[in-house]
Amino acid sequence: MRFPITDLLDQTDCESWLLDYFHPKGLKCPNCQTDVSDAHLFRRTTKSQLQVYRCNQCQCAYNLYTNTVFQQRHLTPQQVVLLLRGVLKGETSAELADEIGVSYQTVLDIRRDLQANAAHLQPDTPLPDQVTESDEMFQNAGEKRR
Ligand SMILES: [Zn+2]
Repeated sequence: MRFPITDLLDQTDCESWLLDYFHPKGLKCPNCQTDVSDAHLFRRTTKSQLQVYRCNQCQCAYNLYTNTVFQQRHLTPQQVVLLLRGVLKGETSAELADEIGVSYQTVLDIRRDLQANAAHLQPDTPLPDQVTESDEMFQNAGEKRR
């Protein structure tokens, strides 16, 4: 049985959770950094149903995903929450694609972008001890290609 998990999550709750993680200092215009309170509601995106804001200062249009890995991917907030959860839990891309109803390639591309961002955030100082846990290093490396 396939659970309709994306239908069971609340869009507003997912948007709120993503806002906290993607924009911990609050949503701002990506161009001039003006707060979203000084923007007007512009439209909603067709597929992901996200509110698009237009900055009153510079007329730049933006939404919750602007300047994130999820920009231009057309995923709903529920799909993004479940995809992030799945990647962090180490679910395979095939399982995730099936579960949230997106293509295998989309999951692979996003996973790759997330991992590249995570790698970029790694400290470049050497580890303090001589022993490294290898199980986490290879968590996603063993995934088979289709
Ligand atoms: Zn602006």
